[in-house]
Amino acid sequence: MQHSPTTSTAELCEHVRADSWPFDVTLTLDEHLGVTDALVSCRQCGQPYLLEMLDWQADQRVMRISVLDRSQAAGVIRDLTRGSCDLSRAAAEVHHLRTLSTFSRCLLLIQARTPVIEAVVALPPDVRLPGGSWRELPCDGSWLSYARSKTSMTNG
Ligand SMILES: [Zn+2]
Repeated sequence: MQHSPTTSTAELCEHVRADSWPFDVTLTLDEHLGVTDALVSCRQCGQPYLLEMLDWQADQRVMRISVLDRSQAAGVIRDLTRGSCDLSRAAAEVHHLRTLSTFSRCLLLIQARTPVIEAVVALPPDVRLPGGSWRELPCDGSWLSYARSKTSMTNG
């Protein structure tokens, strides 16, 4: 078995790490007891990301994170904040943005109340992330268990 733990987080900026909350929420796309899906940007370097909830239990959430192109993200945000806050239009714009980007090979384990990143979990290449909204996903705790198991492994 081969794995390369150092390369899988390369596409996230250095500020996305455990025990911090580097994000400014630019645009909330969906929420349930707190933000579930949002366009965010790194407070320190401005790198935009798409956060999407994959699974949750109480205040603990597992997020998919997509690295966005800065100019494309800025264009979508400009469009969405200019006129009406039409959610279906927002969804279409974000869907377009998503087709231009890819999920990073990381999951974020998040404590939503604080909020804080508890862990950045690198995914092995054979693990496929489901697409679609958390509202269409089982949210049965399996991704949460997965992320927790990876965390306990790496954090001893
Ligand atoms: Zn950053």
